[in-house]
Amino acid sequence: MRRERVLLLLLLAAVIAVWFQLWRAHARTLTVTVLDVGQGDSLLVRSPTGRAMLIDGGGRAGQDTGPQTIAERVILPALALRGVGRLDVILLTHPHDDHVGGLAQVVEQIPTRLVLDPELEHPSPSYRRFREAVAERKVRLVRARAGQKLNLGAGASAVLLHPSEPLLEDTGSDLNNNSVVLRVSYGRRSFLLMGDAEEAAEQRLLERDADLRCDVLKVGHHGSSSGTTERFLRAARPRWAAISVGARNPFGHPDEEVLSRLRSLGIRVLRTDREGAVTFSTDGRRLRVRTFASLR
Ligand SMILES: [Zn+2]
Repeated sequence: MRRERVLLLLLLAAVIAVWFQLWRAHARTLTVTVLDVGQGDSLLVRSPTGRAMLIDGGGRAGQDTGPQTIAERVILPALALRGVGRLDVILLTHPHDDHVGGLAQVVEQIPTRLVLDPELEHPSPSYRRFREAVAERKVRLVRARAGQKLNLGAGASAVLLHPSEPLLEDTGSDLNNNSVVLRVSYGRRSFLLMGDAEEAAEQRLLERDADLRCDVLKVGHHGSSSGTTERFLRAARPRWAAISVGARNPFGHPDEEVLSRLRSLGIRVLRTDREGAVTFSTDGRRLRVRTFASLR
């Protein structure tokens, strides 16, 4: 009887120890997930202290005609699955439909503390709806510009590198080239998230001596031929490149030349059209990569 009781206590202690280790491992991890929103962008960052930041909300107008919107189909379930009941930050990189599309619904349904928006002029209904939702919910709104810094807790942070004043003009796409670019870092690991920035934005970042070094690059503008130049890649030197892109999209994204440039520099490429959602997690030292495809 006594021996049984001792065994039971030992077992209980072992369970608590395992649980504590798991909790510690979880608590000290920063994750960046590139959600699979088809042709568009939506990224979820969770900090080591549990803060949650959503960057863009997917949703090309043409694809959002089914019974469910991109927010209902992908973003809200992804937040629920991860137990995110509140967003600390929603960051819009630029107001194109494939980035702002699902955000109005997210703001309407998930309590949000801060919205960062570069406030680039764009007359699309989905952007207007987003801004109306932000105003209606009285969410604090800050105009996103280079130099701003977000404290994500436990030493993790995000620094906005772009757009800087004066905003770029007369580029192929001023909306793309004034996308918010941010660098998320934790310990020795960092992530460079490019929005839809193209070559003009890359040039500006290089001119301004922005710290571009990263382990993971969220490739700009869905891997289009308009960016991800060799000069830029040599400054950023990522080990991994993630491309958010829709299968059989009509734009020919990602560009074959961009893909071979990445590969020739030894950068491993993951694409949401092939792998589904891609999740990077780090304790500040080691970097783990999981894809939805690998879980199937
Ligand atoms: Zn886009």
